[in-house]
Amino acid sequence: MLSANVETRKMAKRQLRISSFFNQNALVSGHSEADKQTETNTDCASLLLDLAQDENPPDSDQESRPASHKKPRRDRVFQKDWLVKFPWLKFDSKVMTCLTCMQSNLKLSNPFSSDTGCINFRTSTLLRHEGSADHRRAVSRLKQKEYMSVAVSKAIGNKEEAVVKLMRTVYYIAKSELSISKYPSLLELMELNGVDINPLGEGYRSRKTADGLLEAMSAAIDLKVAQKIEDSEFLSMMCDETTDIATLGKIIIFTKVISENLEVETYFIGDYDITDKTANGITEKLREASDNAGIEMEKCMALGTDGASTMMGKKNGVGVQLQRLNPYMLQFHCSAHKLALCTEQAAAKVG
Ligand SMILES: [Zn+2]
Repeated sequence: MLSANVETRKMAKRQLRISSFFNQNALVSGHSEADKQTETNTDCASLLLDLAQDENPPDSDQESRPASHKKPRRDRVFQKDWLVKFPWLKFDSKVMTCLTCMQSNLKLSNPFSSDTGCINFRTSTLLRHEGSADHRRAVSRLKQKEYMSVAVSKAIGNKEEAVVKLMRTVYYIAKSELSISKYPSLLELMELNGVDINPLGEGYRSRKTADGLLEAMSAAIDLKVAQKIEDSEFLSMMCDETTDIATLGKIIIFTKVISENLEVETYFIGDYDITDKTANGITEKLREASDNAGIEMEKCMALGTDGASTMMGKKNGVGVQLQRLNPYMLQFHCSAHKLALCTEQAAAKVG
């Protein structure tokens, strides 16, 4: 009985403190005037009761409290407005969990951080979790993750932007038929003009990088050309053989395809080294290159070459050898080569 009186006095003191906070004069005379409280005071008392219950779990509290002081235990249920008040809260129709704690991937021991969840449907329970060290750690971890993610994506974004600038430079060099050795000096010019390529570091200024970028672009274009070749029902090939400045044999190959819009499109297949410049050697190289480019000889309906006997020889020229694979293939003497021969011979006569 003595302890009950002490508890009552404690409760009255706390009520007095909270009432003062809300500028209310009630509650000063104890439980006898409780029925005269305004609606606000009733809410306040309810909050106090909630707090008192939190401090003294219902089971143990009821055992120590005299039977006359026992209050009927009411079933607590989840309140939907908690989802607004506590944005981290998740309710799956049975238990409450904390999205923040669960997404943090920290090893936490509070019930909100596991699938078993919490079924103590009280505002005070939620407030207590929100202020707990576990939850604050989880909030901090998620913020760190967010900052890290933003920093990483920003760094990647800056680098991607710089790589695109370098690829444009390499593309310009190739398209303008300039030497790839111009790459480092062009980067210097870009920087003088205020272009930022620093996010990539010094390694990207080398000639080796330029070669790598060129190969990457070439691979992308090859894929596109391969698709065009595959889609075209018929096509033709043009080739020419020459000797470069280092006296090495070279053969260059183009193809013409029919696009899906029935337009003729010309694509570069490749520039190949060749050591055997006989008709057999050139035929073999053409077959190898056409195989690599996905060109089926059965649908190659025309071949354009110069007029040399190696190419147009009636018995064993390159054209005749390929016509053995596809009898429908026509061979044409390149008109540009014909024109060159005409002008050369005409000039010789005038001279
Ligand atoms: Zn939490």
